[in-house]
Amino acid sequence: MRRPASLSDLLAWYRSEVDAAIPLRIHSRDIDMGGAPQWHGAFRQYLTAHPAQVDRDDELVSPLRFWLWRLGGERARYLHALAFLDFDWIMAAGFKGVADADAAHDYTRECLRQLHHQMYADDGTPNEPRRPEKGRCAEQGCPNKTVKLRCQEHENA
Ligand SMILES: [Zn+2]
Repeated sequence: MRRPASLSDLLAWYRSEVDAAIPLRIHSRDIDMGGAPQWHGAFRQYLTAHPAQVDRDDELVSPLRFWLWRLGGERARYLHALAFLDFDWIMAAGFKGVADADAAHDYTRECLRQLHHQMYADDGTPNEPRRPEKGRCAEQGCPNKTVKLRCQEHENA
């Protein structure tokens, strides 16, 4: 897979990543006792899980959130907003205070390019998720610090 370079190619790629990551059915049909629609379990998990949380098979629960977390800060917040605004980059950049269309175009493309570099190597193979620096082990409740997803104690658990 070639790296997408144009904004439209990058947007198409990002849309496919988001579609794969976020369940389309946001609310379950069940109404809870108070009458509020309950979040679909998978979407709740997407929003509330720690970005580096892994399941029993040591797979990330939310790979896209992990990579956005790795990207960090302002750019990650922008790309989240972009997804929730249905990939309308003019609007997303406008909310950020970037009113100039050329600047919005360039900023959006740069954020998406950086996300793609986080997620894929030059030959198109997915990168291994590694923590950028020492952080807490992703095992729930474990206080150990690790540069990997899980500490040595939990690595092969
Ligand atoms: Zn641990």
